[in-house]
Amino acid sequence: MSSLIESILNKDDLDRSDIIALLRCGEEDATMLCRKAALVRNQYVGNVVYLRGLIEFSNICGKNCLYCGIRRDNRQIERYTIPNSEVIEAAMTAYRMNFGSIAIQSGENSSEEFTSNIEYLVHTIREMTNGHLGITLSLGEQNRETYQRWFDAGAHRYLLRIEASSQSLYRRVHPDDDMHRYHRRLECLKMIKEIGYQTGTGVMVGLPSQTLTDLADDIIFMRDFDIDMCGMGPFIEHSDTPLGKNGSDNLYLRERFNLTLRMIAIIRLVMKDINIVASTAMQTIDPLGREMALGSGANVVMPNLTPSRYRDGYRIYAGKPGYRKVDESNISGLRLELLSGMTVGFGAWGDTPHFEKRISKS
Ligand code: SAH
Ligand code: SF4
Repeated sequence: MSSLIESILNKDDLDRSDIIALLRCGEEDATMLCRKAALVRNQYVGNVVYLRGLIEFSNICGKNCLYCGIRRDNRQIERYTIPNSEVIEAAMTAYRMNFGSIAIQSGENSSEEFTSNIEYLVHTIREMTNGHLGITLSLGEQNRETYQRWFDAGAHRYLLRIEASSQSLYRRVHPDDDMHRYHRRLECLKMIKEIGYQTGTGVMVGLPSQTLTDLADDIIFMRDFDIDMCGMGPFIEHSDTPLGKNGSDNLYLRERFNLTLRMIAIIRLVMKDINIVASTAMQTIDPLGREMALGSGANVVMPNLTPSRYRDGYRIYAGKPGYRKVDESNISGLRLELLSGMTVGFGAWGDTPHFEKRISKS
């Protein structure tokens, strides 16, 4: 290992230049970085992977993010919303299989019909599982009242990626209109936190024209915002989107994959006791992508429980893993034997010490 990287890995607090050095270090040093991050994970949140069964509720979206396959203007896909009975059935599958938690994700929709439907689902699922099944929501930007209603119904975690903490990069990957404002997204994140949700955010790694300095600033943004959960993944082009078309100077997918592993390891060193997701987008680039993310400090996976006939409709990016029935003998779908002693946190919500400390402080 180079002496520079060794000295950075021995520091308690990393500054921006340390983070940039870790993002650009050689492969051998990166292996040490990832190993160290996994040790920090074991020490602060345990050698345990928590499961959140993912339900992709609807691909109807009012927004037009330039990178996303289910953006409003993509006319190549059929739009769906899963009927409540099937959402509840998927949630009960998670409960039966002892997942501990589910996550409901969707295109953005702020209608009263959508809002009250989610409220009903959250309430019903909590009741049917005697409050045992945890519920994470990832339903985009909403007003304070909506976030509060869903919280009161029983959701307790919310994931809203800032996507890019640099305002100028954010502007480059979104349409320039009032539906897509950086400040609005940031305001939403603040409301989510104030209401009392465990708050998750994250970014895409390898967006066109994104620099290592941008990525280092993303880490600093998440640290300063004092998040409880982090979900980051590589940007993957989708051919029916504006950013999927002119990607000739984009990083190779493998580079984005490797950079994401480093980002995961670095956020673990910087925020030792948070939850970090090993994203499906990692698995899209490498079949063992999630296992490698877990080997770099992540501790959460989100096995997909969306009923099979809707899966094709939720192609946010190209090549998303298709339908494989959840296998009762290996419900996480993970190659646990590759994960040096990691166990699955069955039946547990997997709340972080970070959240508990933050709440007891306020
Ligand atoms: N509509 C909600 C949740 C669904 S989108 C929201 O936007 O918050 C979930 C995530 O998918 C987004 O936050 C974004 O980071 C990711 N995503 C969208 N398009 C992507 C792409 N082309 N490559 C990788 N991730 C993508
Ligand atoms: Fe809609 Fe979310 Fe995709 Fe943006 S990223 S287009 S808000 S689903």
